[in-house]
Amino acid sequence: MSLHKDEAIVLSKRAYGESDRIIHLFTREAGKVSAFAKGAGKSQKRFMNTLEPFNHIRLEYFEKQGRGMVRIENADLVGPNSGIEVSMRRACSASFFAEFVDRLTREREPHDTLFTALKEFIDLARTKDPVYADILHYELLMLDILGYHPNFDTCVYCGAAMEEAERLHFSRERGGILCAVCARSLPHRKCAQGLIPGFLSAKAMQDGFATHALEREAQDLMESFLAYHIDVDFRSYRLLKTLVF
Ligand SMILES: [Zn+2]
Repeated sequence: MSLHKDEAIVLSKRAYGESDRIIHLFTREAGKVSAFAKGAGKSQKRFMNTLEPFNHIRLEYFEKQGRGMVRIENADLVGPNSGIEVSMRRACSASFFAEFVDRLTREREPHDTLFTALKEFIDLARTKDPVYADILHYELLMLDILGYHPNFDTCVYCGAAMEEAERLHFSRERGGILCAVCARSLPHRKCAQGLIPGFLSAKAMQDGFATHALEREAQDLMESFLAYHIDVDFRSYRLLKTLVF
């Protein structure tokens, strides 16, 4: 058995028997880790509510050889989750990104920049209701880190540069925009004027989309892109969509 020190964001927590808990953590140095927290249930004394979802913690854990579930020895709070509970929008969007990271990474695959992105989004959701452009910004950022980012800059087929106003064709199969010439022979969806500039604006953390209709179209495009390339049905996204968008 070896003792490790790391920092982590709590992704989820579930009961295990009367008084123990199983915690899914996204750690900075080891990536996703499943952890056993003995005595973290009933009394709450041992970990003093440190192991709640969206908390940023510093911890010590034991890992057995063979790398199964780790055992949490100590945990201290670095950044609390307070503020997330204020609105459905905050809670649902934080849940979405926790699930996003949980389902798109493998156990013990370190992703330092993804850790930072998740922490940034949780800090944002603690202090304000995220608008769609905020959510999209972090979605694109995390996809970029994981190697799935759609290309909104140049034609994905021939590489041609385009003015923003000319970016009107999106191929989900090829993962990005097409120029007018390539669009003649390749399957794609026609985008409304202003859609791709809206993506670029959200990516740069500016205002996002000019109208609600463009925002809807962007959601639809992202859903179709993710369904094609990732094919994960995010439970929390369905809730976010029903209750918030
Ligand atoms: Zn082209």
